[in-house]
Amino acid sequence: MTKFKKTLLLLLLTPLFLLAQPKVVLQVLGSGGPESGDKRASSGYIIWINGKSSVLVDFGGGASLRFEEAGAKIEDLDVILLTHLHIDHTADLPALLKSSFFIKRTKDLPVYGPVNNHFMPSTENFIERLFENNKGAWEYMGDYLDGRASFQLKAHSIKLTKNIKTIYRKGNIIIQAVGVHHGSIPAIAYRVNIGRKSITFSGDMNGAYHTLEKLAKNTNILVAHNAVPKGASGVGANLHMTPFTIGEIAHKAGIKSLVLSHRMLRTLKKGSETRREIRKNYKGPLKFANDLSVYRIK
Ligand SMILES: [Zn+2]
Repeated sequence: MTKFKKTLLLLLLTPLFLLAQPKVVLQVLGSGGPESGDKRASSGYIIWINGKSSVLVDFGGGASLRFEEAGAKIEDLDVILLTHLHIDHTADLPALLKSSFFIKRTKDLPVYGPVNNHFMPSTENFIERLFENNKGAWEYMGDYLDGRASFQLKAHSIKLTKNIKTIYRKGNIIIQAVGVHHGSIPAIAYRVNIGRKSITFSGDMNGAYHTLEKLAKNTNILVAHNAVPKGASGVGANLHMTPFTIGEIAHKAGIKSLVLSHRMLRTLKKGSETRREIRKNYKGPLKFANDLSVYRIK
């Protein structure tokens, strides 16, 4: 059989849904936490869908430069997801909005994040405090909220529950969210489904609500935040998952691969110990993220 005939036969035998599956790539913008000295940008991720920078997850300090280095385009963004409003997850948003002044974009840009509590504003209020006319720290960007700019930043606050909710649908993108425990800070884990592929983001959390294992069920990639080492206690353990907990969640959820990010000085030097702890439960592929690392879903 000629090569051409073989290819034709293969195409005929391939179910249509497989041919139609989008190309999905996760790129890490920032693999670090809030510390100086880790030589990493703070938390940030982009999901490339068919070559377009479509979904942005978190945007901490340094992520804006990585966004440029990755070749991502603001005009291609469909949605921004904020896992919570800590500085290391949001600080570069003003830089992103300002740079959008120099590009052509006419479709509104939705930003999702958590509701408020005693410690944090809601995502809507957070965006207003940054940019609103007569109120915001950068009120000169107020036309992105009041209808005058070529596109509008549309903030949405997600009510936290332990039930998984669908918060966004567009074409073959379906985004789900669930509340997670990050000390006293409202925090969300997201699952971004693109056709039959999916990437799940833990954000910062310690696993106490047992919601992530449900959200991440059979996901292609779980991005888990490796902010504390084995044996963490006190504040650290109230805010973040230990490596053992990451392994338990990854195993229970039956994920296909694990990416460890939000790496901090206290975990950076403990790669082998972390791996051993995770391996007590989870045996699948495991990678430690660096800034600009790329993970393709086959
Ligand atoms: Zn963080």
